[in-house]
Amino acid sequence: MREPILLTPGPLTTSLRTKTAMLTDWGSWDARFNVLTASVCADLLAIAHAEAEHVCVPLQGSGTFAVEAAIGNLVPRDGKLLVLVNGAYGKRMARLTEVIGRQVAVYETADDVPAQPAEVAARLAADPAITHVGVIHCETSTGILNPLAEIAQVVAAAGRKLIIDAMSAFGALDVDARTLPFDALIASSNKCLEGVPGMGFVIVRRSALLQSAGNSHSLSMDLHDQYQYMQKTGQWRFTPPTHVVAAFREAIDQYLEEGGQPARLARYSANCQALIAGMQALGLKLFLQPELQAPIIVTFHAPAHPAYEFKRFYEAVRARGFVLYPGKLTEVETFRVGCIGAIDAAEIKQAVAAVADALNELGWAR
Ligand SMILES: *Cc1c(COP(=O)(O)O)cnc(C)c1O
Repeated sequence: MREPILLTPGPLTTSLRTKTAMLTDWGSWDARFNVLTASVCADLLAIAHAEAEHVCVPLQGSGTFAVEAAIGNLVPRDGKLLVLVNGAYGKRMARLTEVIGRQVAVYETADDVPAQPAEVAARLAADPAITHVGVIHCETSTGILNPLAEIAQVVAAAGRKLIIDAMSAFGALDVDARTLPFDALIASSNKCLEGVPGMGFVIVRRSALLQSAGNSHSLSMDLHDQYQYMQKTGQWRFTPPTHVVAAFREAIDQYLEEGGQPARLARYSANCQALIAGMQALGLKLFLQPELQAPIIVTFHAPAHPAYEFKRFYEAVRARGFVLYPGKLTEVETFRVGCIGAIDAAEIKQAVAAVADALNELGWAR
């Protein structure tokens, strides 16, 4: 039996090479493991062209842990974060900031409307207490792309600092620290870089990190402490996710062999185009305006049949070897399909055929 293909935005389908890299046990004290960690961090920094002014600090856990750590370190206890919200991950950023006891302001747009840079500028001008702005590069709730470069310019012009949740975009969408001003960019092992889940990382401006000593509300989430310890010893504080790091090393090797960010973006864009064309031919409609859609994950309106239930649809497609993702919108019934992972247009075409077959079986075909 073939393993099912995950059309989900992380965990996602990884290559055999990446999976096989997890068959070795590593000692956390072993110099060879420290070299592995250092090489992963150096490559992540290079992918963001951030070697000049930033450092890469890895953190155990899922991506949210790294977002929480970055905000807990960089936003001082008397600071205030303006979060740009157009989906669940923006809401989560605002919520975790509140939980750790920092002041939050929210600028919210509808799920299908990107944050407007002029409105960000207006809110910053109106509230001098705001020290930092948090933005989601690609809001995975729908797949919408926020205008990162324009927002970064507005934030810098207002003399505030930018924190980017680039979780679902990093590695595929271009980010260049030489032209994009930001204090922190957060992503994880299991999205566009096609590693397995278990670690996040923060590409953080060195001066901001060094100034953040004592800010963190939490010992385990203290990025400054993690960085200092790693600088001194080459080791992670506390047990590292050794197999995840080894798989990530292998995944990044394949990323570089493929041609890095432009090649990854090209493959995902081809996946996305094949997906949209195939699903539209089945009568399934896109939720977002096509120009707002990032080639990461696509939201479709549910089939317009009164008996539609995501769970039955999911099981019917799952039985044909493909794993879909539920919608994350409260107002409209939708489902999502990821374009990312170690797959190309061939798998996407098979997935569309599986969806067509499932809709026929369920009697929901147009
Ligand atoms: C995946 C993701 C996260 C992190 O989610 P975890 O489940 O904690 O890994 C954060 N932000 C965005 C935009 C994401 O896509």
